Amino acid sequence: MLGVIERLRDEKIAFSTDYEDLIAYCKDFNPLHQLKILKKATPALPEVVVFPKSVEEVSRVLKIANELKVPVYVFGGASGVIDSATPYEGGIALSTLALDWVEIDEENMLVTAGAGVIGGRLEKLLNHRGFSLRHIPQSLFCSTVGGWVATASSGQFSTGYGNIENLLVSLKVVLPNGEILEERKTPRRAGIDLKKLFVGSEGLLGVIAEVTMKIFELPKEVVKLSFEYNSIESALEDAKKFLKLKPALMRIFDDEETLRYFDSESFSLILIFEGENAKKQAEKAKEISSGIEVEGYADLWLEKRFDVSDISKIGILGFIFDTIEVSCFWNSASKLYKAVIEAIRSVEGTVTASAHASHFYDSGLCFYFTFAGFPSEPEEYYREVWQKAITASLQNGGNITHHHGIGRLRKAWLRDEFGSYLSFLKELKLLVDKNNIMNRGVFP
Ligand SMILES: Cc1cc2nc3c(=O)[nH]c(=O)nc-3n(C[C@H](O)[C@H](O)[C@H](O)COP(=O)(O)OP(=O)(O)OC[C@H]3O[C@@H](n4cnc5c(N)ncnc54)[C@H](O)[C@@H]3O)c2cc1C
Repeated sequence: MLGVIERLRDEKIAFSTDYEDLIAYCKDFNPLHQLKILKKATPALPEVVVFPKSVEEVSRVLKIANELKVPVYVFGGASGVIDSATPYEGGIALSTLALDWVEIDEENMLVTAGAGVIGGRLEKLLNHRGFSLRHIPQSLFCSTVGGWVATASSGQFSTGYGNIENLLVSLKVVLPNGEILEERKTPRRAGIDLKKLFVGSEGLLGVIAEVTMKIFELPKEVVKLSFEYNSIESALEDAKKFLKLKPALMRIFDDEETLRYFDSESFSLILIFEGENAKKQAEKAKEISSGIEVEGYADLWLEKRFDVSDISKIGILGFIFDTIEVSCFWNSASKLYKAVIEAIRSVEGTVTASAHASHFYDSGLCFYFTFAGFPSEPEEYYREVWQKAITASLQNGGNITHHHGIGRLRKAWLRDEFGSYLSFLKELKLLVDKNNIMNRGVFP
């Protein structure tokens, strides 16, 4: 770190070496980190936290780090769950939170935001003017716009509006050597879409400093429906039919989650239609449904959708809890669901294993598994569950992640996911980050 502090001071870039700031940038939301914190230990500590407030300042920080070969770990809201930016080698924690500008272009239905803008703040600013991002991850109020792009995030309304990669219009990125990448903004172009290299890049290739995204008018009409089923297969069959009606949101809850959320012993499905055809689409959904229509599940879910207070409490009681999201094609869906649930339940110490399907595509869907255990060795238990669940997913037509990303947690299965693209990624990383300063230890 010799020289870094002096250079930051000379360049007048805000930084802190106060212990409370270092602690704030020592972890993400990975459960093993939470476990350490409960034991009053830190997973890792950076040596300095920097708070650049413009694209140019980000560039100057990276130039200093690159010249002095000091590791840089990029932090947005630190709501990631995959042990990604953890500063295991000390160095610089680069917080994007001071990159906080917002520019709304109502005519072209765009918003441009500094990477550190917290999603909830942006959504509220837009709502005020009658617009919405319609990218509403559960972590809306603790994650940043730059973090969404860096993790290839999915919002709750992705079935209707798309994931972050579909909403993205343009990026400003700072490469590890300080070079600033900026392109002409346009609704679409042919040629290689190079900005997409940074979607899901988890801070490996540089700092996303500014994001331009599509925005939508707040829907004037919203219709909600809920159905019950007696099996996952019948719910999945209906989901495939409902998809043709273009719902904004659809979720299937298995029997365990239906009991937990709606106090009923069945499988359930909620649907939300938005826009001027919402009523018509909902009527069609009722006609083609093979399930039993029930009242209020969608409303109940909407009310509770940002509430994670229950899971925050169980950690303190000695439980270990996590979620695993994977995607698969339709023809593997029920087989994959059953195999992963069985794999998780087979691990000694498991108290509960459940799932919902949360994001749907013409070709498939995302299953989001939740497990909690009360094991004697929490870390061993945790790793065994992950090992068994991902293996079961891969053996039954699934993949290793849908939207939480890779980080260190899923690194072992990178070859399974990327195939021979992995070698290309390694070469790209070497080319872009010659001194390997960015998010060391995160994939590849
Ligand atoms: C309760 C809870 C609910 C969640 N719900 C969802 C959900 O519905 N959908 C979903 O997709 N995810 C969800 N997540 C996961 C997490 O919120 C997302 O991955 C989110 O996109 C991370 O954003 P962040 O700003 O917190 O990034 P961080 O956690 O700070 O960083 C995540 C990764 O991105 C990198 N990074 C962050 N900002 C930048 C940048 N500007 N440039 C380059 N790299 C950067 C970091 O280095 C790190 O590798 C949830 C997490 C929690 C704790």
